Amino acid sequence: MLTALPKQEMRRIGYRYLIGDLNTQSIVEVWHSDRVKTLLNLKQKDIKSSSPCSTCEIFDSCFSHLNRCWAEILKAYGDENWDYPDPRCIRAPKMKNNLKFV
Ligand code: SF4
Repeated sequence: MLTALPKQEMRRIGYRYLIGDLNTQSIVEVWHSDRVKTLLNLKQKDIKSSSPCSTCEIFDSCFSHLNRCWAEILKAYGDENWDYPDPRCIRAPKMKNNLKFV
């Protein structure tokens, strides 16, 4: 998901995910920016130790498939726990905010 804010900033869900500024960059420049590449290529060392992802043995496989939803993670655990597992992961801790999935 990509969102353009009224001030023409772009982000991927949440302020942590501000990835550019359309006042100074084109959408293509933002999409191919180092910031986006970093977010899409997170390494296990980038994940804090309280997250189960930090020690998960299938981290590389899981993160390479981009199968986690950052929106659900932020809703379930808060912005400070942006690096927690998707709440639907079998290793996910108890949610701070109890989301219902159908
Ligand atoms: S989301 Fe779940 S399966 Fe994926 S790396 Fe984190 S703990 Fe492991």
